[in-house]
Amino acid sequence: MKQIECPNCGAVFDAKETRCPYCTYINPEGAEAKYLRDLENRRRELDSVDDRVRSEYRGEIRKGTRTALKIVLITALVLAILVGAWFISENKLFNNDRDDYAAELVWEHEHFPEYDILLESGDYDMLLERIAEDGETHDVWNWEHYEEFTEIADSLWGDGQ
Ligand SMILES: [Zn+2]
Repeated sequence: MKQIECPNCGAVFDAKETRCPYCTYINPEGAEAKYLRDLENRRRELDSVDDRVRSEYRGEIRKGTRTALKIVLITALVLAILVGAWFISENKLFNNDRDDYAAELVWEHEHFPEYDILLESGDYDMLLERIAEDGETHDVWNWEHYEEFTEIADSLWGDGQ
């Protein structure tokens, strides 16, 4: 341990002291050493702050990546649900269409023979009435003699009827 003699009071003390412990006279050598030590401590603090900031930054990036991944997964899940729902509803529509079509065929199979009888017996008034009425809910134009009857109707009652 280096000792120095105070230039003011002549006391001997540790050269690391910034002031004489007896008369408080400033010790330039100790003051400079303390200044350098403080500077070094400050630099270390800044370094550690820098490290903390860097590790927090890395943490933020990881968090951001997790969040982005979550968003992608949730979006994919929502899309899958939407596609699934769309597929199911399309299938249901298709099934409904198919059922409607089958029911229509059954109806035509049951009713067109009655049209045939009315046509053969020449009961055109009754036939027109039936076709007009059934035509509101069924595809009466599918009847094999529909066009033929349209021509008969035209000749009987004229265009526009
Ligand atoms: Zn002194």
